[in-house]
Formats: sequence, structure tokens, C-alpha cells
Amino acid sequence: MMPNINQNLVGKTFGHLTVLKKSSERGTQHEYKWLCRCDCGKLTTVTTGALNSGSIASCGHVRLEKSKENLRFTEDRHKKQFNDHLPANNQTGYKNISMTTRNGRQRYRVAIQVNRKQHSKIVDSLEEALAVREELRNKWWPK
Ligand SMILES: [Zn+2]
Repeated sequence: MMPNINQNLVGKTFGHLTVLKKSSERGTQHEYKWLCRCDCGKLTTVTTGALNSGSIASCGHVRLEKSKENLRFTEDRHKKQFNDHLPANNQTGYKNISMTTRNGRQRYRVAIQVNRKQHSKIVDSLEEALAVREELRNKWWPK
């Protein structure tokens, strides 16, 4: 269990977020979530851990911009890799992302392994897959 899991965050600000009240939602490990208002006006619920660690500091508008940057960076790197040698066992050329066929359609499977547990998600496009991979890494990888 994380320390300070029951602390009261109401009224505090984390980046763009101001905590309004404790949400009735719970996170994946049953941790508390907080209803926050982003300074762009949107409401969002965020776990105590994500707020304290700073991994979530907005409703997502900031993170979206950030992940676009990451995507561009990854694409450049991908091109370099492509000119070099692409790993033969991975059709996408991206770590943690592989191609899969579901209901006759090509889709992308994002899978990361943490403490012998696998967290995976299947999406329609490589763009989505890259965003999901960031999401999974942010969520599950030790900081
Ligand atoms: Zn926002």
C-alpha cells in the first residue's frame, strides 16, 4: 500500500488541476480518486498517487500535447530504425506493440509486462497504440 493514501487533497492544486472533492470512483488498486477541475474548465477524476507523483497534472489537454511530441520523436526514431534493421519478430517496429488480427481486421496490440503481469490493450491504429503504450507505461512502470 502506498503511504498517505487517505490524505485529504481537497482544495489543493496539482499543475492545472484543483481538487474539488473526493470522488466515489476508485482506482485500479481501489485507491481514492479525486474530482478535479482543470484550469481549462474540464472536470476529471485522478488517483491520489497520480496527483502526488505529478504524473497527471491536467484533464488531459496538456498530456495530449505532450504525447504528440513523443509521437513525433518516436516516429523519427522509427524511421532511423527502419533504415537500419527492423526486428524480424515485430511487424510494427515499436517495442511493446505488435500486429494482431481481430474479426478479420488488422489491429495493434499494446502489451507491457510489469512484475510478471501483462497489461495489454488492442486498438485500431498505430497512433492510438503509441498513446496507449504511453498510458500503460505511465500507469504501470515504476517511477
Ligand atoms: Zn484541461
